[in-house]
Amino acid sequence: AVVKKVKQFAVIGLGRFGGSVCRELHEMGHEVLAVDKVEDKVNEYAGFATHAVQLDSTDESALRSMGIGNFEHVVVAIGDNIQASILTTLVLKELGVTKVWVKAQNHYHHKVLEKIGADMVVHPELDMGKRIAHNMASEKVVDFIDLSDDYSIVELLATDKVNHRTLVDLNIRAKYGVTVLAFKREENMNISPMPDDEIVKGDILVVMGHKNDLNRFEEEGL
Ligand code: ADP
Repeated sequence: AVVKKVKQFAVIGLGRFGGSVCRELHEMGHEVLAVDKVEDKVNEYAGFATHAVQLDSTDESALRSMGIGNFEHVVVAIGDNIQASILTTLVLKELGVTKVWVKAQNHYHHKVLEKIGADMVVHPELDMGKRIAHNMASEKVVDFIDLSDDYSIVELLATDKVNHRTLVDLNIRAKYGVTVLAFKREENMNISPMPDDEIVKGDILVVMGHKNDLNRFEEEGL
């Protein structure tokens, strides 16, 4: 049997974002320590975390005494208080937490967090906004991952145009310079598509390439 490794996480700040991260990790079976300075929040999340603790994360000695340095991965999801978010991140890195992921409020906050050693800076509203805009602008784009400024992986919905056509027949790589990594048909995932595999309308193609090429494929190829 495959034994899934249980990881130890901590989430500091149990607003909408931190709260959602905490619940999800807990549901996945991981150990999660939930931290907030507000007692009501701590009580609210007691059932969605392994432990829930009330403390102000800018209080270094409080953080230290609960052994936060032993956690491999901590998320700082403090909302509006940028100063508290920065100070907390600084202390966590000083205490030796390997991975500190922080929610940023704006560009300046982001820059400071990077400078003081945050391992990942996230902008949930910005990212979600982008994602929704893409979905609104094209019915074919199901989801996407940016690999860099220029390259992405996108999930595209197969339309009538490619119904019952094979990959070799469509000649996608030569025509558009993009690679079909996989395709999904209902619950079945084909992760090593063969040249003579047939696409059916409604399949979801997972395609990687330069954004310009992907746009061209989406507009002309599907
Ligand atoms: P969101 O936009 O994700 O909903 P909020 O600003 O509503 O974010 O939530 C941030 C949470 O972080 C609040 O529950 C707040 O009590 C908590 N918080 C803010 N500062 C600290 C701190 N210094 N220590 C611990 N928790 C904090």
